[in-house]
Amino acid sequence: MRGSRTSASAEGGAASGLPTGPVVAIVGRPNVGKSALFNRMLGNRTALVEDIPGTTRDRLYGDVTWRDAQFRLVDTGGLEPEASEGYPALVRRQVEVAVEEASVVLFVVDAKEGLTAADLEVADVLRRSGKPTLLLANKAETQERREESLQFYELGLGEPIPISAHHGRGVADVMDMVVAALPPAAEAGAREDALAVAIVGRPNVGKSMLVNAILGEERVIVSEEPGTTRDAIDTAFEFRGEPLVLVDTAGLRRRGHIRRGVEKHATLRARGALERADVALVVFDAREGFTAQDAHIAGYAIEAHRGLILVANKWDLMGDTSRPEFERRVRRRLRFAPWAALAIVSAKESSGIGEMLAEVVRVGEERERRVDTGRLNSVLRQAVAEHPPPPTVRGKRPKLLYVTQPEVSPPTFVFFVSDASALHFSYRRYIENVIRGAFGFEGTALRLVFRGRRES
Ligand code: GDP
Repeated sequence: MRGSRTSASAEGGAASGLPTGPVVAIVGRPNVGKSALFNRMLGNRTALVEDIPGTTRDRLYGDVTWRDAQFRLVDTGGLEPEASEGYPALVRRQVEVAVEEASVVLFVVDAKEGLTAADLEVADVLRRSGKPTLLLANKAETQERREESLQFYELGLGEPIPISAHHGRGVADVMDMVVAALPPAAEAGAREDALAVAIVGRPNVGKSMLVNAILGEERVIVSEEPGTTRDAIDTAFEFRGEPLVLVDTAGLRRRGHIRRGVEKHATLRARGALERADVALVVFDAREGFTAQDAHIAGYAIEAHRGLILVANKWDLMGDTSRPEFERRVRRRLRFAPWAALAIVSAKESSGIGEMLAEVVRVGEERERRVDTGRLNSVLRQAVAEHPPPPTVRGKRPKLLYVTQPEVSPPTFVFFVSDASALHFSYRRYIENVIRGAFGFEGTALRLVFRGRRES
């Protein structure tokens, strides 16, 4: 499935023979304390030197383990331009190179010096990259400097986090935030790039016929390959140049004997298929409408944070039913996921199949979308200003400090909250609606993670 692509690790590891992991890059203008932070985070581990392809310079890196997570920390200090070189252009280039392969970026600024033109330059590159970025205001040893670090909000990269790399202050918190922002390890190095589609639904709704209709499409090029489990067969195909794979089609492409045996474990298999899929097609019989059982199956897809397309099949038997009226009826049964997509098809007459597949591709693209951290935080700030979280019984209001989208497929948003347990479910729902309202993501579930600032 997808998502692994974004967590692809540094090519540098292969060359050095060391275990690779997601790359965390430290960037910033000269003398802000990048090396001090690098050394702090690395602890007593060894730093290594690496050539950067395409440049004449070296950089330092080291592999860090923190709370079960591993990442490769890269100090870009060695990439710093000499004073004589064309300065702003080189700063940009340095940051671009560093950020290209990074999963998370640590942008260090100097709380003692304050905001400089070079900081703005770097921030600009980072905002464009859309990479999850932590803005670290270093040398914030005193209360005064910690307060002054708020000026870095202007960089549009979220809340400046005051630290002192020299004294080690705030560095553990930064490590926690880095780990939270890393792509999930389980997905690193997962399967290839095809968009994985699971076709699920109750017996007799027409799943089997739908698979045949999909593969019978003229634009589709089919090849069979073994699935990951013993008797699972995945069917790979291409639709308008887009590689797709139908997950676990063994039970759907064969009739009779074998199929009945498979059908016995239908629910289990469906859940297994959903686990491996990017997008779920929940097929139902248009004549019966979207029943509670269909909603139950859709619930599995939502729990698994998949893309979700409800497929109303057997439309050929629906006479001249109005589509908008039909859609309204379906949506009334799925209030908890108003973002789900709907496709109306007849597998038998092979109608609506192209539109449905186009929708699959579109939902797949939505799942791959990354929102720029700066924009995300400004939307969050505004949403909180309009509707602050209600205070708890003890009268304390939880504060939403910062949000970042560390991962796609599913789009995952990590919120740092002063007290995550005090944030009510309905408020989390509100925040999800705000994100959807601002950035879309139609057709896919989102994963929202709320983390306390100092969760023990
Ligand atoms: P599955 O159990 O979900 O895989 O369902 P099947 O594909 O075996 O189909 C169940 C029954 O519905 C079969 O008799 C199919 O011929 C019929 N069927 C499937 N799709 C359609 C459709 O679009 N229109 C009509 N009229 N019948 C369909």
